Amino acid sequence: MSLLELDAVDAHYGESHILRDVSMSVEEGEICALLGRNGAGKTTTLRSIAGTTPPEVRDGTVTFAGEEITGMAAEDISVRGISLVPEERRVFPDETVGENLHIAETVRALPNRIGRSLGFDGEAMSDAEVFEFFPRLEERRDQKAGTLSGGEQQMLAIGRALKQHTDLLMLDEPYEGLAPQIIDAVEAAIDRIHEDGTTVLLVEQNAIAAMNLADRCYVLDQGEIVFEGSAEELSDDDRTRERYLGV
Ligand code: ATP
Repeated sequence: MSLLELDAVDAHYGESHILRDVSMSVEEGEICALLGRNGAGKTTTLRSIAGTTPPEVRDGTVTFAGEEITGMAAEDISVRGISLVPEERRVFPDETVGENLHIAETVRALPNRIGRSLGFDGEAMSDAEVFEFFPRLEERRDQKAGTLSGGEQQMLAIGRALKQHTDLLMLDEPYEGLAPQIIDAVEAAIDRIHEDGTTVLLVEQNAIAAMNLADRCYVLDQGEIVFEGSAEELSDDDRTRERYLGV
């Protein structure tokens, strides 16, 4: 059984039908990348999984750890072990780095029963563990989050997600707007988070960076899955890359 399964999902924003018959799966322990051009429906897919509305899932099912979560409230999905770090990296700008991490800890309300029954650890990370991934955050612990650089805010947003019961970490364009050396730091952190057992679903427009990191890739185009395969297969498939990713 896959950790996450989407089966024939259709999602709409009001009258606009965006996702069409999207089926995909994420296996426990892998890094899966969802790629596609601007407007292909990547963010809509992540929001459909996380229960963030809009969009509205009108058809199909989303199953996490064997339980159907389609249509559940975002909070109910989050306590089951799914975290979404959105593109806009929501942090509390007037609170310090330390306070932002503490808030993340207190919103982790319920034990992740389903995850536990399947043998996931599901323990929230301590500050010290988050700082191991992102030493820069420890240096900035008492600084207001709004004064951090883009890269540091990305690290804080990921750190906040890690504090919660995360079995599946979903990252929406984590490299967007970051300087190359910061991209390396974020990439190394995602790698380590994955080595520590967290499953990762990564949405990227930067297909090359995502293929470097991912085990498997899906490509979306106009709300439909047009490719599914290993990162190597995608890398070898010039036609798909050129047609749908422009690389
Ligand atoms: P991007 O990289 O630009 O975020 P994406 O692949 O993540 O691209 P989505 O953000 O999922 O694409 O958008 C898919 C389609 O849904 C686009 O046509 C977009 O205009 C539309 N869309 C996104 N959000 C809304 C909304 N709140 N209301 C109506 N349409 C929306």
